Amino acid sequence: MVSHPKIVALIVAAGQGSRAGGDLPKQFRRIGGRAVLAHAYDGLAAHPAIEAIHIVLGEGQEAEARALLGDRAVAAFVTGADSRRGSVRAGLEAIAAADGADIVLIHDAARPYLPTAMIDRLLAALETAQGAIPALPVADTLVRGADGVMGEGVDRGALYRVQTPQAFRFDTILAAHRGWDERREATDDAQILRGWGHDVLLVQGDERLEKLTYPQDFARAEAMIARTTRVGMGYDVHRLAEDEELWLGGLLIPHDRGLAGHSDADVALHAIVDAILGALAEGDIGSHFPPSDPKWRGASSDKFLAYACDRVAARDGRIEHVDLTIICEAPKIGPHREAMRARIADILAVPVDRVSVKATTTERLGFAGRREGIAAQAVATLSLPALS
Ligand code: MG
Repeated sequence: MVSHPKIVALIVAAGQGSRAGGDLPKQFRRIGGRAVLAHAYDGLAAHPAIEAIHIVLGEGQEAEARALLGDRAVAAFVTGADSRRGSVRAGLEAIAAADGADIVLIHDAARPYLPTAMIDRLLAALETAQGAIPALPVADTLVRGADGVMGEGVDRGALYRVQTPQAFRFDTILAAHRGWDERREATDDAQILRGWGHDVLLVQGDERLEKLTYPQDFARAEAMIARTTRVGMGYDVHRLAEDEELWLGGLLIPHDRGLAGHSDADVALHAIVDAILGALAEGDIGSHFPPSDPKWRGASSDKFLAYACDRVAARDGRIEHVDLTIICEAPKIGPHREAMRARIADILAVPVDRVSVKATTTERLGFAGRREGIAAQAVATLSLPALS
């Protein structure tokens, strides 16, 4: 067993958000029918590596936050402090007191849109650093000014806008917070880690991660969080032959014959790959893994499916559901159905209840009926950003 680092998230939701207008703190206002805080939570929870989410709130805000989050699992609600720094410190201490962590992602509640790939980039950067943050180059011209009059221009080449989530080795950021001179303030945790003597890596940020600050930001966020549902279908056939292993649905199944093809010829996984690529409108399995390429000879088809999942993640999509039908006379699929669902769900990194496996015969008609081959068809339902 590979041991995975324990990764937890801390959402800082203690702000009062007065610049955003309205009576409610901005993290409690709704966009697209969900509270901004719930959006921030869902962005983190969508990443399979995050084990637990802790939330720092202002005094007396817990009942409201609980109501807005519904049945989302929260490891702990922590009461924050007057400053952002103090609130994060309280959250880190609560995580330490609970069970600790290897890695913590500290995220602003007021950033409702978090692409899952952003978390992957941060975690990858932490393999060589104690801290990593999303940052974007500055596009606008920058100048100094005083009393309404423009002064010197500022070289923007070395300037970045810093976003969250900010990712840290847990013990190091906790020590940095504990060691911070309380008489100074810091607007983010990367400054605190840097003050503690560690490099913080800059990782490519994302425009969509913008923080909601002003009233007009909410309308823009509505458009940004809108998602669309896409459906794709896939179909595949392989020939049954003697002296072949039968790989089907990612499993090696005992049978007197197996499927022949360039790869392991797992028709079920191939149909799912094509369904996913179809929903993305990104070609088919043959265009990504040409049969003419000797690299894929005998390849295990779970690689193809994992690749299709990566394509979904790259588009910030989610796999909502996969429905597979295997068409064959033999072997019987029933005894393998649950193992197949579990295996496919594992490769797709989705809960097993989002994977359906069905089977049918063709009443001994046609090539499947004559046991000359096995066919499979699949439908994949994806959720993708409406704006992309
Ligand atoms: Mg095939």
